[in-house]
Amino acid sequence: MSTAVAVAGIIALGAWRSKSLTQNGAFAAFAVGVLAMRAGWAWGAFLVAWFAIAALISRVGRRVKAARMFGVVAKGAERDARQVLANGGVFAFCAMLTLIVAQIDGFSIETHRLVDIGVAAAATGALAAAGADTWATEFGTLIGGTPWSLRERRRVPVGTSGALSVAGTLAAIAGGIVLAALAATLHMIPFTVAPAVALSAVAGAFTDSLLGAWWQDRRWCPHCVMHTEQVQHVCGTRTECTGGIGVLDNDAVNFLCTLVGAALAAATVFTHPR
Ligand SMILES: [Zn+2]
Repeated sequence: MSTAVAVAGIIALGAWRSKSLTQNGAFAAFAVGVLAMRAGWAWGAFLVAWFAIAALISRVGRRVKAARMFGVVAKGAERDARQVLANGGVFAFCAMLTLIVAQIDGFSIETHRLVDIGVAAAATGALAAAGADTWATEFGTLIGGTPWSLRERRRVPVGTSGALSVAGTLAAIAGGIVLAALAATLHMIPFTVAPAVALSAVAGAFTDSLLGAWWQDRRWCPHCVMHTEQVQHVCGTRTECTGGIGVLDNDAVNFLCTLVGAALAAATVFTHPR
């Protein structure tokens, strides 16, 4: 237990100091980290690797991306608690579930094994979906050119939710595959389950785009005459809701993306036990 607390604490502190996380974001990441490491070293290793890759990718071409997305996206590079839980909440819940299931005596060894694999696949699917979505956003912004809006069927400003580019789409697919393979390499899931997890992750990332295109809260700054995700725009003006569902902000959409990744991965394991 003390090792889990120490490792999660050091990483959360480092992420806060290097401005990858805000203070409450670091606390949330610490809680997710402790749960993961209690669930097993493979869980902890996968979480740490996932976070390191995400932090690295967000730093590639940071200035170019910031300039292209200025005033459009809701939040900066520093992630707060709500963002951490939108990405890692389902994963943390699965870690908790694994710890609870381990305490149940009534199951046979086969049932325990199947549930363990199913829950680990769900956890991996959730995090890989969030990762695939991050890869799509980061690479799409950097090299994807002007993205295409599914809903409006026209080109829209970089950073618009639900807009796709070829580079972003390929990055999502690559992200799902790489992260699922990484989880299998770290013994978080069996290699036989990795393809299903990769597919689930990509499906989760596309759900994010669909929700982002049609139902995510859309806002307009009358002062700057531009679309944005920010409730209060960078210029200080309070933005107006012009479409979508108010409660469905970027974090809520991200959470649903991880939920779809988790549900599809678990469903595959439980419907195809081996
Ligand atoms: Zn403005």
